[in-house]
Amino acid sequence: GDFANEVDTLVIGSGPGGYVAAIRAAQLGQKVTIVEKGEMGGVCLNVGCIPSKALITAGHRYHQAKHSDDMGIVAENVALNFEKVQEWKGSVVKKLTGGVEGLLKGNKVEIVRGEAYFASANSVRVMDEKSAQTYNFKNCIIATGSRPIEIPGFKYSERVINSTGALALKEVPKKLVVIGGGYIGIELTGAYSNMGTEVVVLEGTKQILGGFEKQMAKLVERRLKKNGVDFKMEALAKSVEETENGVKVTAEVKGTEEVFEADYVLVTVGRKPNTDEIGLEQIGVELDERGIIKVDKQCRTSVSNIYAIGDIVPGPPLAHKASYEGKVAAEAIAGEKAEVDYLAIPAVVFSEPELATVGYNEKEAKDAGYDVVAAKFPFAANGRALSLNDADGFMKLITRKDDGLVIGAQIAGPNASDMIAELGLAIETGMTAEDIALTIHAHPTLGEITMEAAEVALGTPIHIV
Ligand code: FAD
Repeated sequence: GDFANEVDTLVIGSGPGGYVAAIRAAQLGQKVTIVEKGEMGGVCLNVGCIPSKALITAGHRYHQAKHSDDMGIVAENVALNFEKVQEWKGSVVKKLTGGVEGLLKGNKVEIVRGEAYFASANSVRVMDEKSAQTYNFKNCIIATGSRPIEIPGFKYSERVINSTGALALKEVPKKLVVIGGGYIGIELTGAYSNMGTEVVVLEGTKQILGGFEKQMAKLVERRLKKNGVDFKMEALAKSVEETENGVKVTAEVKGTEEVFEADYVLVTVGRKPNTDEIGLEQIGVELDERGIIKVDKQCRTSVSNIYAIGDIVPGPPLAHKASYEGKVAAEAIAGEKAEVDYLAIPAVVFSEPELATVGYNEKEAKDAGYDVVAAKFPFAANGRALSLNDADGFMKLITRKDDGLVIGAQIAGPNASDMIAELGLAIETGMTAEDIALTIHAHPTLGEITMEAAEVALGTPIHIV
């Protein structure tokens, strides 16, 4: 029926931005409805963070099983049942998406399935196959996320795939061309090369993983090369021809045309915000030229009762950033003084070794006008890293020279993704190198690297000279 539903806060999209915002708004006493046109949990849970990490784990285990002879482990007949891998991956996703639905219900958030479209600055129409309903809201949080960009000449098909297709393959490709050496392309390159795929990466610039320091990106490149991955830098993908059971990709590599044959070509050159099909123009929500929604520090758009979070607003398109903004927007709606501060937002690549960064790196700190100490400590000087047989990498701790305040950190090494949390906490709470050095870290752990890097900053490291 077409009667209007009245809600306090309407959330559009159930990704890590939307579902977190909905829960927080409900916790703060709002009557909340969340609208989702696809699967609960958005990109992150269904076709992003979670399934990619599952495939990475499977590839890593398989590769390790075959390559641990240096430790005296010789495994014969190690096999990969990819159908089973995919089934397991699916079960992980299902647990989490079911969990999100349970959490929303447990917080009394109403879940509506369908596609939302703004009818006015106070109402949306929600359409499913059968019907359309109107929801009137006091406040709205838009969290519609992003989708893969398609590049000219590479129309997506069964063989020309994006990250979603790459996560859903039914077989391990023999050969794969990856266009784009960003974190998504590199993570998937790692997963499949560990499972035996011959991968060629075509990267447009001179360096993969552009957002990270060259030295860190090089470690990843070196490890992937050891796995047989071929890198073509300054490569411009031009066109693709689909053959009977594969593709021929033509690219200009440093000015020379080359052709690469493979089973599939994976295009991972970036994503665009889902802000073009929800009626924003009509209600006056301002966008920039890339379709990114302009927001203030409380995630409020140019229309005062409409908020936007996640991949559709400025900043790194990462799940934890979307969730963080979700909490801020919900709290702002509830009248709290919350506002975003992006300094301590970490970024991680689940490569080998893992890369992680938070706050400033050395160059950024200098550009921001800080006089800094960049204290470096290698994983190879840490007992735990050696006993894990995984000692490739380093930590760099960035502190302010005059008072030792921690303002950033970069890690390349095993478990960098978990280790970075301590540095985020240090930045968020205003710790100094001395505070970290005085904190007792259990032995033998990778955490001792953080303590030692702080000692390096103070000029008194124990385990390097
Ligand atoms: P999304 O997760 O994109 O969710 C948006 C939701 O809105 C979708 O469910 C969509 O169906 C729904 N929607 C859209 N329009 C409408 C409408 N009109 N009506 C109703 N519903 C609508 N980030 C990390 O931090 N760590 C990682 O390891 C990581 N790995 C990734 C790996 C891959 C392969 C990819 C593709 C991404 C990865 N990301 C990772 C990025 C992360 O997935 C995104 O940053 C995150 O999902 C953004 O969250 P969001 O809430 O903004 O939107």
